[in-house]
Amino acid sequence: MTNALYPSDRLARAARAAGAAGLDALLVTPGADLRYLTGYDALPLERLTCLVLRSDGTATLVVPALERARAESSPAGALGIEIVGWGETEDPYAITAALVGRAEKVGLSDRTWVLHGLRWRDALPGVRHELAGTALRELRMRKTPEEVAALRDAARIIDGVQDEIRTWRLAGRTERAVGRDIADAIVNGGNVTVNFVIVGSGPNGASPHHDLSDRVIERGDAVVFDIGGTTPDGYCSDITRTYVVGEVTDGFDKLYAVLQDAQARACEAVRPGITAEALDAVARDVITEAGLGEFFIHRTGHGIGLEEHEEPYIVSGNAEPLAPGMAFSIEPGIYLPGRHGARIEDIVVCTEDGGERLNLVTRDLVVLEA
Ligand code: ZN
Ligand code: ZN
Ligand code: ZN
Repeated sequence: MTNALYPSDRLARAARAAGAAGLDALLVTPGADLRYLTGYDALPLERLTCLVLRSDGTATLVVPALERARAESSPAGALGIEIVGWGETEDPYAITAALVGRAEKVGLSDRTWVLHGLRWRDALPGVRHELAGTALRELRMRKTPEEVAALRDAARIIDGVQDEIRTWRLAGRTERAVGRDIADAIVNGGNVTVNFVIVGSGPNGASPHHDLSDRVIERGDAVVFDIGGTTPDGYCSDITRTYVVGEVTDGFDKLYAVLQDAQARACEAVRPGITAEALDAVARDVITEAGLGEFFIHRTGHGIGLEEHEEPYIVSGNAEPLAPGMAFSIEPGIYLPGRHGARIEDIVVCTEDGGERLNLVTRDLVVLEA
């Protein structure tokens, strides 16, 4: 039975994209590209697993013989492609090179281990190696309605975790202890993995990628909660909310009001045709006009799908026009070193005539019971 998330024409479209990018074949190892193309969720290991997709449309999935049954029972088994098992004493690089055949350029999936890449350099002498992403990015950026539905499911689950957090008493607990409870909630909500848990309390909130520490959360702290997981379908979630514990201190509400306005305006500006960099500027201009521009120290967002961070990146210098089906975060932040920080993040999908926010948790400033 074919899975609607992995339409059977996808391989043919990817092969055409490879040809258009001047690539004779794609060598796709375990990771998001392989799952996207075949539905096969394989572990990246030293034993080579590789989809050889030639630009003429020929597709062969080469797997360790001991994993062949697993590959055949995955969605890849329903695609009608050949699945070849290699034995422990065989050379999988020679096998895949033979499947590539005569070639000038091949594309390796962007996250292929160098371990494999250098073996192919030897097995494919004189063949130029490029990134498969140059061919696959256009396809992966534009989500199908089924993929958008999967991202919507992921968002619903992670929204539920934020709803739970707002009922907790945080004062007197460490970030690490609260983070453990969040990780449990992420899995209990229906995710298969916890991708990350950031609990940035008080001054720690001023470091955007602070994760967890033994700092005890105090009354009066603003706390940044940035959390994400992966659903059984393989799609990622990512949401940030910043709450205040007990009472607002140190002018945090004024900073938060600027941030909320910036995030809302950027979400409202999403529509086909606006460039990624223009969208970044919408959020940044609001914060700059409030005199806080120097404290918004990262891009406005990143694409999301089978990977937590993927194209398109919502950043100055990216002239990519947004198109229906593109899914990305809008997550401006303001970080005052030594004092506090705040970030509001939603996943937004570009639609035919605007944008759809997938995360629906309140963005108003919430003061939690201490
Ligand atoms: Zn980040
Ligand atoms: Zn995030
Ligand atoms: Zn994010």
